[in-house]
Amino acid sequence: PPTKLPKVGTTIFTEMSQLAAEHNAINLSQGFPDFDGPLALLDRVTYYLEHGHNQYAPMAGVPSLRNAIALKVEQLYGCQVSPDTEVTVTSGATEALFAAIGAVVRPGDEVIVFDPAYDSYEPAIELNGGRAVHLALQAPTFAIDWQAVRAAINDNTRMIIINSPHNPTGTVLSAEDLDQLEALVADSDILLLSDEVYEHICFNGSHQSLLCRPALAKRAFVVSSFGKTYHTTGWKVGYCIAPAPLTTELRKLHQYLTFCTVHPIQLALADFMTDFPEHYLELPNFYQQKRDLFCQLIKDSRFSFQPSNGTYFQLVDYSAIAPDMDDVTFARWLTTDVGVAAIPVSVFYDVAPQQRLVRFCFAKDDNTLKQAAEKLCKI
Ligand code: PMP
Ligand code: GLN
Repeated sequence: PPTKLPKVGTTIFTEMSQLAAEHNAINLSQGFPDFDGPLALLDRVTYYLEHGHNQYAPMAGVPSLRNAIALKVEQLYGCQVSPDTEVTVTSGATEALFAAIGAVVRPGDEVIVFDPAYDSYEPAIELNGGRAVHLALQAPTFAIDWQAVRAAINDNTRMIIINSPHNPTGTVLSAEDLDQLEALVADSDILLLSDEVYEHICFNGSHQSLLCRPALAKRAFVVSSFGKTYHTTGWKVGYCIAPAPLTTELRKLHQYLTFCTVHPIQLALADFMTDFPEHYLELPNFYQQKRDLFCQLIKDSRFSFQPSNGTYFQLVDYSAIAPDMDDVTFARWLTTDVGVAAIPVSVFYDVAPQQRLVRFCFAKDDNTLKQAAEKLCKI
């Protein structure tokens, strides 16, 4: 049958995690912690599972969780949102991204994405008849060239997708970046999709949420994920904040993609957010220690790197080890022969530049990081 997504195969995350399992390699490829979420949170899930909360949740999300989200963004970003009309709980950030794109992108629309780009954006754009316009970020800074963005904008530009802290590079947008974005879209109808799933994993200075900027927030879908914040990627619970008219459109898709999101876990997350707000406040420090440990452990290896500024990913350059090997081959070799799985970075580009970069996930127990580093220092 004709395929609607000719460029898409199985995701690199599935591929590399599978290869890691087959070869018994330490899996620093797909991004997920190898430790559990907080016990008090798991206890609340058990409580709700055992007390009759196993039927459909409200379509937009349980009120207590939407209230907790609204309170958090008011406290952290000074942004007042209506839990009723502007907050939607989704089945992971993945669903929120898909629904936001599907809600507004029409055939012929262009959507600006910055490469290396998280892999779920483009298929969603294409399924809706849109076209992804790729602007490549260049190593080592991976900064956005706002002149290039200005040049790429035309009457068909429907949306710009940004992601900060950025997967896979670990770069973080600055206040000046948001100033540039604000100036760029000021007199236009361009919508924004801001993927902020690593909002609480930001090391140098505070995360610049679009929610801090009324002029940007009024045209934005802001997406986050409880998977990253609470070490529970397998729960697939996320959310989208958007002005009421955009939320109305988003919910039209959400109600037919999934209708609603896992009920007992939403209730547990609401309790935990309310009772333990320090969890997300302490997260930058928690992950900065892991980043520092990992960077310290591989500093005498032949990999070169700049410490990540956010996310739980560290990019490394392997030019000194295998200058002639492409990154997909290198990541596979690292998995099968060295015993440490990584993600090649070129797969996140439309046209990959000549670079020798792979991504490691450091959301791992210190012992896992030590074992991995030992192997990485031997090559
Ligand atoms: N966006 C980015 C940048 C991510 O790294 C992830 C992590 N998988 C997602 C979206 C999806 O999040 P979720 O697992 O909540 O669907
Ligand atoms: N976001 C995760 C990563 O970047 C993977 C999510 C997935 O496997 N779909 O590794």
